[in-house]
Parts: sequence; C-alpha cells; structure tokens
Amino acid sequence: MVAPRYRSRTFRRVFVKTPGGQVVLHYKKRKPAQAQCAKCSSLLSGVPRVRARELQHMAKTAKRPQRPFGGQLCSSCMRQVIVDSVRKA
Ligand SMILES: [Zn+2]
Repeated sequence: MVAPRYRSRTFRRVFVKTPGGQVVLHYKKRKPAQAQCAKCSSLLSGVPRVRARELQHMAKTAKRPQRPFGGQLCSSCMRQVIVDSVRKA
C-alpha cells in the first residue's frame, strides 16, 4: 500500500518502466492550468504549461511571446489596447 498522501487524486499517476523492465507507479504533481488572456480569457499560446520550479530553468524567451503584453494578453486584445492608447493620445 502506498503512503496515505498518495491515495487521493491530488497527485497524478504515471507508469514508469524501470531499467530492470518492471513497470512501477510514480505519483507526480498535476500540471497547472493553461494561461489565459487578461481581457477576453481565451487560452494563450506560447506560454508553457509547467510548474513554477520548471520555469526557473527556462529561458525568458521560452516563457512568453516576445511582444508587448506577451503572456498577459492575446494578440488581438494587445492590438486593440495599443490602438486604443494611440487614439486617446
Ligand atoms: Zn484576449
């Protein structure tokens, strides 16, 4: 029997094949939710769906798109925000 903390579905179950050929069950933490646009809450592409610890080892350019509001707004909302700010000025 596994440790009590692993009996819930808080952890995801991953079958891992060991070098000896045995298949064993590993318990891993679940992936966080996909990043969403702050304005229209559509799913953002180009933002990795990994835990914060894994983000530490990634390059800044791999974490969000290289444009203004990259990783915060989707491309169409970004365009709208910039056009609005120019029109106000
Ligand atoms: Zn949007």
